Amino acid sequence: MACLLVLPFVSSAQRMEFTHDDTLRGSITPERAWWDLTFYHLNVRVQPTDSTLTGSTTIRYRVLKANKVMQVDLQRPLRITRVEQDGKPLSVRQDGNAWFVTLSKPQTPGSKESITVYYSGKPRVAKRPPWDGGMVWKRDKAGHWFIATACQGLGASAWWPCKDHMYDEPDSMAISVTVPEDLTDVSNGRLRRVTTNPDHTRTFDWYVQNPINNYGVNLNIARYEHWEETYSGEKGPLTLNYYVLPEHLDSAKVQFRQVPKMLKAFEYWFGPYPFYEDGYKLVETPYLGMEHQSSVTYGNRFQNGYLGRDLSRTGWGLKWDFIIVHESGHEWFANNITYKDIADMWIHESFTNYSENLFTEYYYGKDAGAQYVIGCRANIRNDRPIIGIYNVNYEGSGDMYYKGGNMLHMIRQLVGDDAKWRQLLRGMNKTFYHQTVTSAQIEQYMTQQTGLNLKPVFDQYLRDVRIPVLEYKLVAGGVQYRWTNCIAGFSMPVRVCYNETGPFQQLQPTTQWKTIAAKEVTSLLPDSNYFVNCRRVD
Ligand SMILES: [Zn+2]
Repeated sequence: MACLLVLPFVSSAQRMEFTHDDTLRGSITPERAWWDLTFYHLNVRVQPTDSTLTGSTTIRYRVLKANKVMQVDLQRPLRITRVEQDGKPLSVRQDGNAWFVTLSKPQTPGSKESITVYYSGKPRVAKRPPWDGGMVWKRDKAGHWFIATACQGLGASAWWPCKDHMYDEPDSMAISVTVPEDLTDVSNGRLRRVTTNPDHTRTFDWYVQNPINNYGVNLNIARYEHWEETYSGEKGPLTLNYYVLPEHLDSAKVQFRQVPKMLKAFEYWFGPYPFYEDGYKLVETPYLGMEHQSSVTYGNRFQNGYLGRDLSRTGWGLKWDFIIVHESGHEWFANNITYKDIADMWIHESFTNYSENLFTEYYYGKDAGAQYVIGCRANIRNDRPIIGIYNVNYEGSGDMYYKGGNMLHMIRQLVGDDAKWRQLLRGMNKTFYHQTVTSAQIEQYMTQQTGLNLKPVFDQYLRDVRIPVLEYKLVAGGVQYRWTNCIAGFSMPVRVCYNETGPFQQLQPTTQWKTIAAKEVTSLLPDSNYFVNCRRVD
């Protein structure tokens, strides 16, 4: 998701209260756990004149464990009107935004089954997309409809019936969207056919060949202009398709030249674009942007920076288009490697914030990349932990962007070997290719690959709000130092220089005082690539 500059402040002391609805939405309930999602066919008719959706989702699944009741999610005010298995209607009980379907035929472990869920209604309208999700009903300058969906956090069930938990992804998906005949729908994957219907509508059939996360599925509807090119990448030819409003065609043709540049840098750092089969698309939307899988959405006004601003205040953030770089970076970290629980959203946002640094480094050098990520520290709040609360669909602090990016930049310093670091990032995208993961898996992978004890680092930066302080004292013939303002047992090596300009020296501080022999030292300064504070005590 595009980062939000002004974050709503939630005090760590504020008591969090979660409801039965939060648990149904955010946990792997028994009515979800027994079936493995294999395929969706979403078939939806979009009627802008009264802002309604009418359609169905066919859900194919494999039975893991015998059960009679299946949970399907669809958020109010939308309603499930009918559910069928093998053409026979099934009974459905609504519990808030969860719907419990009672199956009549025995569900045998190992068997492959399918149900179709019909629905209709006026979906929730997004108030502040993409952060506050739902449908967006706007018009372009010429007065034609300009419609989109955005639903990270809120969930895809805000506009279509699905298993609305991130742990389970279908292996592939078909999306059929019927719109008034003068409009074009752009969704995920590849366009297979366009059918003109007798009722002055057209149906766009899209097909996604790869696993896709729920919030990655999207509709974008407008009188789009379209062009395409082919990028020659690590895995061969990759089709790049662009869709923008006619009024922006000229500026988009210039600005979107950054797409191949972005791909070149990210394939270098992270490995092949993860969805060659589905192609890459960049699609204009009436909101800022979102990492929709294989149809990245764009509303950054065809200018560099984040709506023209530099989030790092170093100048480097104005060298490139924030939405092209950031939202596309998510193809690796969000769409390829996907969190199982939104509490672990740092896996998406910390790595993608960090990808901005690596993009900058690829084109402007290592110092530029470092300056960018360090400059972004001004946006850190240390308000609450980066990791949220599990099983209730609750994400952690917005610090997952800048603080998370700085944590990764610092871990790179700890590794101290750029080739190894790059192989770690590429290896991660291979190891967890098209998977949903937990923070624990990512932490373990990084610990194993680096051979470093990163547990204190992850616990400090992801699960605590304090920034460690390197405390030091000048003593006869040396310096004493330790970590304070940190978790119990925190330890992390740090590079420091003596007397501000002196040569760098590696220290291994813990929370206990240690002494190092040194002559004529008057001050100690940590390498600015480390996200720590420093204080002299006497
Ligand atoms: Zn993001």
